[in-house]
Amino acid sequence: MIYLVEHFYSIQGEGRYVGTPSLFFRFGGCNMKCEGFGCIEKAPNGDAVLGCDTVYAVNKEHFAQNWVPIEHEQDLLQVLELYDLPEGVDVVLTGGEPLIYANDAIFVRFLENLIANNHRVTFETNASIDVDFEKFSVYKECVFALSVKLSNSKEPLSKRVRGDVIFNIAQNAKDAFFKFSIDADSINLGLEEELGSILMHSQQTSVYCMPLGGSREEVEANTEPLIEFCKAQGYNFSDRLHIRIWDMNKGV
Ligand code: SF4
Repeated sequence: MIYLVEHFYSIQGEGRYVGTPSLFFRFGGCNMKCEGFGCIEKAPNGDAVLGCDTVYAVNKEHFAQNWVPIEHEQDLLQVLELYDLPEGVDVVLTGGEPLIYANDAIFVRFLENLIANNHRVTFETNASIDVDFEKFSVYKECVFALSVKLSNSKEPLSKRVRGDVIFNIAQNAKDAFFKFSIDADSINLGLEEELGSILMHSQQTSVYCMPLGGSREEVEANTEPLIEFCKAQGYNFSDRLHIRIWDMNKGV
């Protein structure tokens, strides 16, 4: 079953298309937890839940009341009717990890409809779940932001870095770019080597580095060290505009 946690029309806040008006679909569920990111969110039952900045779209046990089951692609397509959207507006599929639904027939039909209507579809993915480009050719028309998780996520290496998946997506997608969330401490702990061991799986793919943080304060603290790192390594710096503008607010 596909679960949709939220949808909103905003601007893309990070990565290659920063500033682009985009309709976001946030799907529920992820194959990781990323407790190393240290974000804590209070669940409706009062529990403090540890995870990433979208833990409410990862942890179904605590946040299930906001997860809407999707039984037909029309349930997703109807969302586009709720907004006054420019024709062919960018659509961003995020989560959680949207590719946990990559083989679901409803999900694939939803994608096919978006592409047929000239939307640019971008996946925000942790790039650890493979995509069958031959069986589902619609994925060849999609863009993939490869947000491969680093050791600061505290996920096991074999789970978070799948060279075969990175290579497959980068080779077959319409476009792909790496997008990393980086904190100042990681930079000081030899980040170049860690990034290098990921980038080797697709050396022509461009790299965007964003300051780690679920709040404006955290993002600001990591920004200047990261800019210096990007200058030294020749990577693109990407702001996290939505957090800088709206801080910890969701759905913006
Ligand atoms: S992979 Fe992404 S969505 Fe999943 S737990 Fe990690 S940061 Fe959160």
